[in-house]
Amino acid sequence: MIFDTTFETEAQIEIRTLARKFAQERIRPIVEHDEETGTFRRDIIRELGNLGLTGIPVSEALGGAGLGYQEYIGAIEEIAAESGAYAVSVAVTGLPQVILEKQGNEAQKQKYIPKLASGEGIGSFVLSEAGSGSDAASLRTTAVRDGNHYVLNGTKLWITQADEADVFIAMARTGGPGAKGVSAFILEKGMSGILMGKREKKMGMNISHTMEVLLENVRVPVENRIAEEGDGMKVAFAALDSGRITIAATALGIARSAIECASRHANLREQFGKPILEFQGVGFMLADMLNEYHSAKLVVQKAAFLKDQGLPFSIQAAQAKVLATDMAMKVTTDAVQILGGSGYTREFPVERLMREAKMLQIVEGTNQIQRLVISRALKQD
Ligand SMILES: Cc1cc2nc3c(=O)[nH]c(=O)nc-3n(C[C@H](O)[C@H](O)[C@H](O)COP(=O)(O)OP(=O)(O)OC[C@H]3O[C@@H](n4cnc5c(N)ncnc54)[C@H](O)[C@@H]3O)c2cc1C
Repeated sequence: MIFDTTFETEAQIEIRTLARKFAQERIRPIVEHDEETGTFRRDIIRELGNLGLTGIPVSEALGGAGLGYQEYIGAIEEIAAESGAYAVSVAVTGLPQVILEKQGNEAQKQKYIPKLASGEGIGSFVLSEAGSGSDAASLRTTAVRDGNHYVLNGTKLWITQADEADVFIAMARTGGPGAKGVSAFILEKGMSGILMGKREKKMGMNISHTMEVLLENVRVPVENRIAEEGDGMKVAFAALDSGRITIAATALGIARSAIECASRHANLREQFGKPILEFQGVGFMLADMLNEYHSAKLVVQKAAFLKDQGLPFSIQAAQAKVLATDMAMKVTTDAVQILGGSGYTREFPVERLMREAKMLQIVEGTNQIQRLVISRALKQD
């Protein structure tokens, strides 16, 4: 089998198989239409929740599946193989769960995690602003203490599924400049002053809406602050470390889909009297695509393994994110090439997969920022 599961346990294969079956039956038939029209179906997240796939790494006591990232990446890969946007949606709904399970207090965990883990609720991660993307710690949204509340004001940009979200984790400035002046807060749908601005018109991933979010005098109870004042960037960075593994898994699914489509086409399409696979220029391209997919996958699995073991995994998560998303960009571009003129049309999914792969090189820390993280680890004292 060219896409074997050699290193996976029975539990991992079971979760992967469950996610694959659902994604092929439920998402595959609607994905092209919904990408074209920008239609997000909440039902799909609910149904994924019913299968236990929206809270995989969260403890059973909080409504999750009580499994690890090694199971999580298999499910995300399978969903991404049919729709990058739904894989991102599951991953982003996972972020508040992972944050709160690790850094939230007991009341916050009980109040917010079960709804998200069950797929009833949708999560959102609210960090970026027009002036602060890679340099996230320079954010300008303010949170000013007023008795038992904080009052939040500012404008956030590029926020995934904010228009659908029930629970938002938002970073805002409570102190002076830099990372130490930032705190993290839980916001809920329906709080007065959370307003949706423009919805971005994007290159791809149109099922997943990317929103401007205006925070206008949003009164957030003090009990909704996560950890201490000034811990906001620690909360955000820890979440991004975990998020990078799921983005890498999304890249694996997109790449695998492109390889499957391109190899099918290379077998069927004949030129000069034989299948184009038999031309070394095409056959070797496919062999390289497969090799690069498998080597990236090993690094993603390693990052997930380290996280599950409770070992340091930040550098490996950054490596997984860079290797898998750069691989997906290259593999999907080559897949378009192998399909020739057909590859450039919407008759086949490879052009969509190529547009989806591009997003992954940008989000959760651009690939330049990942290289910065990795190169810093090489610094000698
Ligand atoms: C579809 C989509 C969904 C998103 N969803 C979310 C979300 O849900 N929540 C959220 O908070 N944000 C979200 N983002 C924002 C995303 O995290 C940022 O776009 C990303 O962090 C990059 O920030 P920026 O766009 O401001 O680019 P910039 O930081 O302005 O970077 C521009 C270029 O400069 C490079 N660069 C910057 N600094 C350095 C450096 N020190 N060394 C080398 N190169 C550097 C970058 O790599 C990039 O190539 C989303 C973005 C997109 C496109």
